[in-house]
Amino acid sequence: MHINDAVFLEDLCPKFRFRQWRKSIHKFTGKSCIYCGKPSESIDHVLPRSQGGLSTTENCVPACLSCNGDKSDENALYWYRRQKFYDPRRAMAIRAWLEGDLRLAIRLLQWANPNFEISKPNYEKDESEYRAA
Ligand SMILES: [Zn+2]
Repeated sequence: MHINDAVFLEDLCPKFRFRQWRKSIHKFTGKSCIYCGKPSESIDHVLPRSQGGLSTTENCVPACLSCNGDKSDENALYWYRRQKFYDPRRAMAIRAWLEGDLRLAIRLLQWANPNFEISKPNYEKDESEYRAA
């Protein structure tokens, strides 16, 4: 295989793959911004692309538009430290995410935000189950 073939295959269906990949990133945090916990509407590069950051899962986190826009081209960890909503647990989560330890990152995010749960049964559902029993 010619070395350029791999690039060509990537180019062939980047839209679909990119969409699936973005979805999976948002799923990790239950669609909440890794920095502030608001609904995530975008993917943020922790190490900006302008500084050589890659579009890999380790370097891409779910972020709200406000955080993503405000952070712009800065390194996320430096930027995050200056924010009013700074939470050391989230900072640890971002670091774990960068190291590829998504499980640890998600656990830290849950710790930072007790309301954060990916498949949270709601109160009404709980009660109907209780009544049925
Ligand atoms: Zn945010």
